[in-house]
Amino acid sequence: MKVLVTGGAGFIGSHVADTLLAAGHDVLILDNLHTGHLENVPPAATFYQVDLRDANAVAQLFNVHQIDAICHQGALANVRDSMNNPVQYAEVNVIGTLHLLELARKHGCRKFVFASTGGAVYGEGYRPQGGKLPFTEETWPQPKDNYGASKLAMEFYIDLYKQNYALDYVIFRYPNVYGPRQDSKGEAGVVAIFAGAMLAGEPINITGDGKQQRDFTFVKDVARANLLGLESDASGIFNIGTGVPTNINTVYEILAAAAGYERAPNYIPRPLGEVLQTYLDATKAHTVLGWQPQVALADGLHQTVEWMRRK
Ligand code: NAD
Repeated sequence: MKVLVTGGAGFIGSHVADTLLAAGHDVLILDNLHTGHLENVPPAATFYQVDLRDANAVAQLFNVHQIDAICHQGALANVRDSMNNPVQYAEVNVIGTLHLLELARKHGCRKFVFASTGGAVYGEGYRPQGGKLPFTEETWPQPKDNYGASKLAMEFYIDLYKQNYALDYVIFRYPNVYGPRQDSKGEAGVVAIFAGAMLAGEPINITGDGKQQRDFTFVKDVARANLLGLESDASGIFNIGTGVPTNINTVYEILAAAAGYERAPNYIPRPLGEVLQTYLDATKAHTVLGWQPQVALADGLHQTVEWMRRK
């Protein structure tokens, strides 16, 4: 298949591109390099520096190539930043995605794979019947920020394109994804931030008591989910995750051991609105797509530290 991977110069998108190429697909990458880097782009992929907001430039790709499927990873994805820039987040994540959906419809693409987010779409997860964690796809979404709202809005639009135009889709609600190529600057991922600071010998802040729980899933497992989603006939929403809650203190300890870092963390006040517990039940992805995580947390964290050391 000829697949357009948006955000393919970024962290997850570049691993998705690697995995699709290894499976024999033809990969085009669209990225404006806002947070992505050229060195992440696999040499076997064809790269276009294009902004999702530029409808004409995106359309040009579809005029030049017969694109069979779109794997849409490109987005603005910073929760805190989204609260300061709601319009910019809607322009990229909502309008930018609509440009792709319209082109998919006009050019008869077969599949639309979309990177959504479990953490920001579920929020604390509204469970009227008092259900329990982990969140399933039936958990009522309750975003707490503009980023989560922009992703959930697109989930509805994507389903609409299936209903009205028979465009098959797979929406992945990702957990906390970590691994090589994640940026250690900003607030993208706690693993990258901790590992980067540890290797630089810098102090590390943990918010609250560090007992907040997240579902840490290795990036190559997430990339494989994208391949399975792309090649499957199924349409629908799928959680991706280990289903295992891990607290921030545990991640700190494993990374510190791997990096040889001996300083204790500073505990600082929790920011307002921080979600305390989120982890995802990926039974549906297992049953329908045959996906299961393969990389254990300690192994994935060690691989991440080793990659950063070599960088
Ligand atoms: P990333 O920032 O590394 O990747 C996003 C890519 O999109 C970057 O390469 C960036 O340059 C590109 N991009 C941004 N704005 C663009 C625009 N206007 N036009 C074209 N390209 C643009 O982040 P990531 O962690 O790899 O995230 C990939 C996807 O996964 C995103 O959709 C994100 O919302 C989603 N996601 C990530 C996580 C995680 O834990 N990392 C969790 C849930 C969901």
